[in-house]
Amino acid sequence: MKKSTLIVQAGIAHDAAHKSVIPPIYLSSTFEMDGIGEHSKYEYSRTKNPTRDELANAITELEGGVGACVTSSGMAALTLIIHLLNPDDLLIAPFDCYGRSYRLLCALSEKGHFKLKFINQYDADEVRQSFKANPKMVLIESPSNPVMRIADIKNIATQAKSCGAMTVCDNTFLSPMLQQPLELGADISFHSTTKFINGHGDVVGGCVVTNDSDILTDLEFWANSLGLIGAPFDSYMTLRGMRTLELRITRAQENAMKIAEMLDAHEMVSAVYYPALKSHPNHDIARAQQSGFGAMLSFDVKGDIGNVKKFVDRLEIFRLAQSLGGTESLINHPATMTHVSMGEEARAKAGVTDNLLRLSVGIEHMDDLLNDLNSALKHIGN
Ligand code: PLP
Repeated sequence: MKKSTLIVQAGIAHDAAHKSVIPPIYLSSTFEMDGIGEHSKYEYSRTKNPTRDELANAITELEGGVGACVTSSGMAALTLIIHLLNPDDLLIAPFDCYGRSYRLLCALSEKGHFKLKFINQYDADEVRQSFKANPKMVLIESPSNPVMRIADIKNIATQAKSCGAMTVCDNTFLSPMLQQPLELGADISFHSTTKFINGHGDVVGGCVVTNDSDILTDLEFWANSLGLIGAPFDSYMTLRGMRTLELRITRAQENAMKIAEMLDAHEMVSAVYYPALKSHPNHDIARAQQSGFGAMLSFDVKGDIGNVKKFVDRLEIFRLAQSLGGTESLINHPATMTHVSMGEEARAKAGVTDNLLRLSVGIEHMDDLLNDLNSALKHIGN
């Protein structure tokens, strides 16, 4: 079946009790046992819950894995993954990853949980060199948040495999509809399902998918032991939102393409970061490894910070907010919002300037989105 069918059909008409078409929600924290020593599949919801399993199964199918752990947030998903590391293990991570991932990795490595090295994954020589240190795990975030750089997943995963390292890919920005990290050689793909997978801005959640059953066993152990699991209600909502993922992302990326072209030609914009543009330095890799360019893009507005503020204040449809991947269009100022915790130096290195704005393009009518941006740009140009 195609992904769009899999997603709509996930869990449909599986209910043995009453034949409900839509899978029921099991909020119960515990399940009655038949007798002492008689264990069944579901006993306690931290360990296993039917509603959470429906979502895990659906994401597993879409990502082409053997199983998934649904977590309480994207950060919980990353926390779960890095618990596969021991104190002497080296983790290689991108120098320009999501600010809160950057902060978490730094904080835990400083406590001695693992060793950490940030590298530029867009430089083939630097990637090659980094493997000489025998890392245990390589983290990729492609496209990167917020500057939309594209890492060559297949190339990195091949090198990782040859030195026995695990490859982990944050697939939040594209979703399994547009990118299949496991097929490209990664061992683990993970998401902030808060974003495109749920897609309606009303759940914070995450998930970790793998195609290796030993890794899955370890992930399940740590998810249960640390209690990082997603709630049944959130899982139900997320599966509900996910059914329209293909429709939403297709429409949103059509809007994003038009917006990127408009911004690219605008005199008040000094740079646009969207991998679909031929001028994007990683355009060819994006074209080869993705099946779409997604609905996220960033751009630098000309002028000082006053101009940036003036522009954002003038917008009526794009709301200034932290999140992304919903039906509604959002704008974010990474330097003071999502990437503030990286610190000024790391931000400068990652290309997160004070003039950078990140758009999460929604599914509103394209004309209205273009008008909103155009009239705010006109306002600062005057
Ligand atoms: N990874 C990426 C690329 C993100 O953008 C985010 C959040 O913005 C996360 C992970 C963390 O997800 P959450 O906010 O659900 O914890």
